[in-house]
Amino acid sequence: MSRVVLVHCEGYEGEGLMNALRRAVNEVGGMSNFVKPGDRVLLKPNLLCAREPERCVTTHPEVVRGVARLVVEAGGTPFIGDSPAVEQFGRVIAKTGMRDMARQEGLEIGELTEPVVASLPGNAVFKRLEIASPALAADVIINLPKLKTHCQMLMTLGVKNLFGTIVALRKAEWHYMAGTDRDTFATLLLDVYLTVRPALTILDGIWGMEGRGPANGRPRHLKVIAAAVDAVALDISMCHLLNVPLGQFPLYRAAHSRGIGETDIGNIIFVGDAPETFDIRKFQVPSLDALGVLPGIFDRLSKRFLISKPIPDEDFCTGCGECAQICWPGAIRVEDKKAIIEYDRCIRCYCCQEVCPHNAIQFKKGLLVRLLNLFNR
Ligand code: SF4
Ligand code: SF4
Repeated sequence: MSRVVLVHCEGYEGEGLMNALRRAVNEVGGMSNFVKPGDRVLLKPNLLCAREPERCVTTHPEVVRGVARLVVEAGGTPFIGDSPAVEQFGRVIAKTGMRDMARQEGLEIGELTEPVVASLPGNAVFKRLEIASPALAADVIINLPKLKTHCQMLMTLGVKNLFGTIVALRKAEWHYMAGTDRDTFATLLLDVYLTVRPALTILDGIWGMEGRGPANGRPRHLKVIAAAVDAVALDISMCHLLNVPLGQFPLYRAAHSRGIGETDIGNIIFVGDAPETFDIRKFQVPSLDALGVLPGIFDRLSKRFLISKPIPDEDFCTGCGECAQICWPGAIRVEDKKAIIEYDRCIRCYCCQEVCPHNAIQFKKGLLVRLLNLFNR
């Protein structure tokens, strides 16, 4: 059983928003239930890219402002952090209004950088994840997603928002993988969720996005703020509210099969405003992205050319087998004291390269990374 709070909220202006946020947080015990005096609290909005708040691509700065004030009232020190997928952080926070809001409130704001190897919970599937150290070092994380559709993952809500705690260029490759192997990507998202464990998720669904999200859909006035400790339950509840078919939601499939969070809508206790009072009709989810419906042969070809490929260097490989141990799809075997990778099974997680004690796994850079390198010069 998990509790999910739903609260009506018309807009981002005036006292209405602050009252709605306060009410939502009070329904889960109040901010002091999560934040103790002196805690450093990471507020993790969706800062996907540099778009104005009214485009509904990013969490609205007024929602972040309101939550920051609640954290301060509880005695905590909030700071804002995210790691945009491609665009420069400074540009993103300027355009989204987050920088100005942070200045007005005297809030620290910074890019999530400095990846460190995270200590993973026992039920993680991936054996190794690098997470931004400010996220791991925070006393508390409050997850502030935007309600949006997603062409590869159907919806981006609470759990998906935490992908922003992963740093580096490889993130783009993971994103690419979402188009070709949604279930593996959902597995990764759940591992990130289990690892960073936000204390609370508060969703900005006042204006959300339908259609071709997460960046090119249409704004839709949904008038909802949702809050929950269990981000999986929150995501399932939003699908219920929007009539999004759960069977098509990769995150639901992965969470349900792994028993993570509450995935049974019958076991979710709604508090605040009743779901039926929202009456959201004909919410448009994206049609399957081209990458997801291309024939398997094309998937294999695009994977081969677009994404970087790990290649064991025979001169350095000692056959120690550490890479094979960490490779959860079982793509590596050691023969004659040399690592051999079976590329059809390799999901390009690059864990092997990270654990190899002899730096024997090199990369053949994929086209995607080469293009991004050019772009970032
Ligand atoms: S971890 Fe490195 S040295 Fe050990 S088998 Fe794998 S590639 Fe070779
Ligand atoms: S061989 Fe592929 S799947 Fe296995 S650890 Fe390396 S990158 Fe990941």
